[in-house]
Amino acid sequence: MKDEKQVANTNFIRKIVETDLHENPDFPKIMTRFPPEPNGYLHIGHAKSICLNFGLAEEFKGLCNLRFDDTNPEKENTEYVESIKNDVRWLGFDWGERLYFASDYFTDLYNFAVELIKKDKAYVDGLSGEEIQEYRGTLTQPGKESPWRNRATQESLDLFVGMKNGDFEEGKYVLRAKIDMGSPNINMRDPVLYRIRQAHHHRTADKWKIYPMYDYAHCLSDAIEHITHSVCTLEFEDHRPLYDWIIDNLDTPSRPHQYEFSRLNLDYSVISKRKLIALVNEGFVNGWDDPRMPTISGLRRRGYTPSSIRKFCDVIGVTKNDTRIDPVVLETVLRDELGDTAQRAMAVINPLKVVIENYPDSTEDLDAMNHPQKQEMGTRKIPFSKTIYIEHDDFMEDAPRKFFRLSLGREVRLKYAYLITCTDVIKNEQGEVTELRCSYDPESRGGNAPDGRKVKGTIHWVAESAEVHAEMRLYDRMFKTAFPDKEDNWRDDFNQESAVIMKNCLIEPSLKQVEKGKSIQFERLGYFCADSIDHSSESPVFNRIVTLRDTWAKVSKEK
Ligand code: ATP
Ligand code: MG
Repeated sequence: MKDEKQVANTNFIRKIVETDLHENPDFPKIMTRFPPEPNGYLHIGHAKSICLNFGLAEEFKGLCNLRFDDTNPEKENTEYVESIKNDVRWLGFDWGERLYFASDYFTDLYNFAVELIKKDKAYVDGLSGEEIQEYRGTLTQPGKESPWRNRATQESLDLFVGMKNGDFEEGKYVLRAKIDMGSPNINMRDPVLYRIRQAHHHRTADKWKIYPMYDYAHCLSDAIEHITHSVCTLEFEDHRPLYDWIIDNLDTPSRPHQYEFSRLNLDYSVISKRKLIALVNEGFVNGWDDPRMPTISGLRRRGYTPSSIRKFCDVIGVTKNDTRIDPVVLETVLRDELGDTAQRAMAVINPLKVVIENYPDSTEDLDAMNHPQKQEMGTRKIPFSKTIYIEHDDFMEDAPRKFFRLSLGREVRLKYAYLITCTDVIKNEQGEVTELRCSYDPESRGGNAPDGRKVKGTIHWVAESAEVHAEMRLYDRMFKTAFPDKEDNWRDDFNQESAVIMKNCLIEPSLKQVEKGKSIQFERLGYFCADSIDHSSESPVFNRIVTLRDTWAKVSKEK
């Protein structure tokens, strides 16, 4: 993990802000904004942008707005708006009174467009969408001017009013900036500023028949809100000249600047909203908050905490390099946090019955630590009885010498309980092991050998008298390959085994009382979170958040 100083060094935008403030004593209060389009749920990439924008404002005593970029009525809705507000709040950020919508500015944006037309900086074009495309040229060939480019200003003004009033059908006209069809930057070849849409908007209803394009609405919304540093992702770098052109050619309330950083990509996952929507709609996952999803709501349901996501964003830094992040980074951050905070308990996912033949027909309560390093987290009682269950995997009939778990004739420690030795193996007709017979050393209460003999292996267990059935949802990576984010057949890489549902798992009785959303370390199994929706004391449901890396490394070494 990086320390604070290193974190600061890996955020170049932070340095820009610092320099701006340092070099110009009159620099206004830092204003940033997080500008989601409400066309899907937020994902971990958005978290990076949220932490950056809100983080800069916080650090430099400025403010950060939450602004919905709602200029595409067909794809946007209020369910998305609400989920986004909820997720930003959950991550620990506060926009105060400053909740804005680009649609709040539709009238201003319209007036600015009129100003551009009057300055002969914009015109109404009558070319069709395909023609505009065709006239635009390519990366190697300049574009061609539209025959309508030099239409009289008044004519453009009249047509623009007609567009606004709904006099024309979709596609009949667009408003375009008059810049340069020969520009090497395609974004500067008379970009479209407004198009006609007969669509119902989630906030302005049917009031508007024309909708501004993103590039036009975004910079002006920034200027209206007095944003000082408009931070966005690298794909907008080539749009910056247009951003500046619009601001420079209008009399705007302020002069914002755009800065770009690289998007976050997570290996074994897809991050684009378009693909996430497909996974939801096509039933690959159970909704936006499926614990495998890289959405904020999915990570939350999985058991990720706001602090772990914020820490992750700090660790990965902000650069202009194309970043692909291994999910191990995210998992490690959470594992470190939960290692510190999560209470320990025992559960058995795949139970194998063990009868301790010399143990009396009674039960006793044993003391267990809630956290091995933290006395202050206290202890709890766990019942022990003649019949217990251990993990199937923790027994091996023909075990190699280095298998430090249970095997016929070998001794193992039951965590917090006793030393037991396996004396007999019972199998079904198929030859599968169904039950073990063991003996225990009554002098070894607590797990220590009275004569100091060495017993290397320690395994977890749940007593029959205590058995409480639970469902465990074992999640794995959503995709089989590290880079599934290609254009075609990306669906083929979906990991069909990414959710394994185990019924009839056993848990300690204390776990019945665990409230929804709480995270626990199941000894030797990993960190689990009581599902925030399906868990109840009658039918407990736990999501595996992450495995215990150390345990798994050790287990595979033993094998
Ligand atoms: P997607 O491609 O997933 O639809 P988007 O950029 O269209 O993402 P917006 O809602 O427009 O999504 O994004 C809001 C803000 O979050 C923007 O400033 C955008 O740059 C930023 N953002 C989106 N995806 C990422 C990402 N993967 N990493 C960092 N920032 C991101
Ligand atoms: Mg977008």
